[in-house]
Order: sequence, then C-alpha cells, then structure tokens
Amino acid sequence: MALDHVETLECTVCGATYDPDQIIYTCPEHDGVAGILEVVYDYDVIHDRFDAPLDGDIRSQWKYQAFLPVDTEATPVALNEGGTDLLDTPRLGAELGVDINVKNDGRNPTGCFKDRATSVAVTKARHAGQDVVTCASTGNAAASLAGYAARAGLDCRIFVPESAPEGKLVQPRVYGADVLAVAGSYDEAYDLSMDVTDSYGWYNRNAAINPFQIEGKRTVGHELAEQTQDSIPDWVVFSMGDGCTIAGCWKGLREFAELGYVDDTPKMLGVQPEGASAIHDAFHGHDEVDDVADTLADAVAVGRPRNTLKACRALAESGGTALTVTDDDILAAETLLGRAEGIYAEPAGAAPIAGIRRAREQGIISRDESVVAVVTGIGLKDTAGAERAVGDVIRIEPTLDDVTNQYGTAKKERRGRS
Ligand SMILES: *Cc1c(COP(=O)(O)O)cnc(C)c1O
Ligand SMILES: [Zn+2]
Repeated sequence: MALDHVETLECTVCGATYDPDQIIYTCPEHDGVAGILEVVYDYDVIHDRFDAPLDGDIRSQWKYQAFLPVDTEATPVALNEGGTDLLDTPRLGAELGVDINVKNDGRNPTGCFKDRATSVAVTKARHAGQDVVTCASTGNAAASLAGYAARAGLDCRIFVPESAPEGKLVQPRVYGADVLAVAGSYDEAYDLSMDVTDSYGWYNRNAAINPFQIEGKRTVGHELAEQTQDSIPDWVVFSMGDGCTIAGCWKGLREFAELGYVDDTPKMLGVQPEGASAIHDAFHGHDEVDDVADTLADAVAVGRPRNTLKACRALAESGGTALTVTDDDILAAETLLGRAEGIYAEPAGAAPIAGIRRAREQGIISRDESVVAVVTGIGLKDTAGAERAVGDVIRIEPTLDDVTNQYGTAKKERRGRS
C-alpha cells in the first residue's frame, strides 16, 4: 500500500488512533477542546525510502517526499516550494550582537512559508478526488491555498477577516478563488469555516485541525537540519500565531536528529506580539486569558490559537522558551531587516528579529550563541503597514537643482579619480 509509511493518526489529548486514509480533522471525543491529531510514522519505511544525499543542494521541499504523508502514487501539486536560502546576515548580527543567519521563507511561491503545508494539503485533496478546498485565514494561508488550488485545477473558497491587508485580499482573487471577507475577526472566520466544512464537505486546509498541515511545515526543519549539519545553531526563532509553524519545524528537526542524520537539535524561541500572546501566556503558566487579538502583525493576530498544545510541547521539548514584543519593536525590526540585509519581511516575518533583540536584552540568548531567524513572509503584500515605519519619499521637480538641494553641488572633477 502506498501510504504505508504513515502508521496512524493519534489524538494528542486522549491517545485514540484513527485511520490515516480517511478524511478526519480532529478527535470527536472532546467537547470544547480540539482533539488535535498527530501523524505517527513508520520511520523504518521512511528511512529505507529516503535516499537523497544531505549535501545542501535542496531544490524544493519534495526532496523530503519520503517524509511527507502523501500516497507514493500521488503527483505533487508543486510550484517550487521550500528549498529556501539560509543567508549570512553579518550586518544584522552586528546590530543585534549575536551570530545570526536568516532562513528566507518569504521566497516561497506565494510569498509565504505556508506554501510548504499547502502543497501537501492540495496534493492530498486532489489525490482523494476532492473538488473544492477551503480554509480560514488571516490572509497568507488563503493566498497560498488559492494559488495551489489553481495549480491543481480545484475550486477554492476562503474565509478571511475583512480587515486583512489589501494585498492579501487581492492575491487569492488573482488566483481565481472566491474570497469571503467576514465582517469579524480571524477567530470568527475560523469558526464559520468549520461550520461550512461540516455542512458542505469541502476539503479544509485549516492548519491546526487538518492533521496533515503541520507535516508539510516539517520540511523547514529538515532543510535547516541539512543546511546547518556542520554547525547546529543554538536557537531557531519563529513568530507564533496558531502555533503550527513552530511545532512543524520542531518535528522536522527532531526526527532528523532521532534518525541520526544530524547530531543535535536547537532550542526553539517563539515570539508573539504583546496584543496576541496566548501561546506565550500558556507556556509561562499565566491563567488570565485575553482572547482578543490586537496587533499590526496580521498574520499572527490570533486570539484563540488552535495549536497551543503542540507549540508549547515544541518549546519545552527543545529546551526553548517564548517571549513577547511590541508592535513598535516589530516595525523597527522590519526596517532593520530591510536596511541591513535587503530582506523585506511582513510584520509577522520580522517579529523573530524583534524577539532576538529582546532575548539578547533579557539574557535569554547570550552573545556567544548562534541563532537562525526564520522570516516567514514577504513584505510586499502589506505596504500600508510598512509605510508607518519608513520615511517619506523625497518629492522633487524634474530639475538638477532639486537634486542639488538634496545632496549639495555635484563635484564633477572627482569623476574617474577613485
Ligand atoms: C501563519 C503565519 C505565521 C504563524 O504561523 P502559525 O502556524 O499560525 O503559528 C507566521 N508568519 C507568517 C508570515 C504567517 O503567515
Ligand atoms: Zn481524543
């Protein structure tokens, strides 16, 4: 059988197991709490099938196909996701006072890390003969799903809060999706998408409850393990919304270490905005819950994260921690990343940089440690946000005089000297 490397789906709450061949989202045994399922693999089968050399040459995430929970007969729905660069970022490091590399996942096909997961989900949906895919999203998952649905020839209907940045509402429509802009928060859009999935039977990509979503996100961990095998970083830093991304990466890092492909694992640092800090609060044992999200980092503006459990396990198992940053810190990080290294991130993508600065100040990360920040999304979808952090354009008439006013008299005679 061709899904024989997937043993079972196991409930993270009660341990009940489910058949990986059926379409099931969460364990139905738990009222109120989501019984999130974990995909359990037969690593003997995977290890036998995985024959790609760990030589740093990563064209796309499908290098790790043996690890992905798709039928070996299924043709991947792909746009060249993953295989992103791990960049040296010395000027950024000097600014933050730490050895840092940036994994630039904004380079994915729709401009966001989520393509890793979407590619897997849409491959599974098409292979299962589904015609319609859906999800709720703060914007990026919607754009990502719409792109891959178009690639696969499936219909796509997505639910987003109407406040999502314009670019994230336009992009999925260019991909031909129906964009249902909900007059409400992401959390309300999410609940609606779940009701719709129940009544219409559309294939739901919602990351937290589709057990296969996190599995695609593991490939960022596989890539990082491969790219840093000679010098494993002390820390890997992510922003957290629902918590699936950091959990997925951790699972990928952990399994490569357990299989002996690499010697060790990094500690995970999860960063949240002060205004949307539920996972951070749960990790540190704060009981008072504020489930309203208020932050300009729209991609992580999640009031009730759906995967707090898996995210907190990733932080704890790796020996890492969580911290919060302000929106001003995030904007400052966005322009720092652009100015210092030529990387244009959206706020949620820049938040890890703000988190590293905070962690250095608090002594969580020490000067002699090494850090990888994963930039999860490109900034171009949300120029309005960035506009608050950059200076104005310099308006001039089309005359040399106006340039002279700006930069002083041109010194012609210096030409050719240097
Ligand atoms: C979705 C998203 C995140 C957070 O991922 P979660 O799985 O929700 O924690 C971070 N950055 C960007 C750019 C995203 O789109
Ligand atoms: Zn259960």
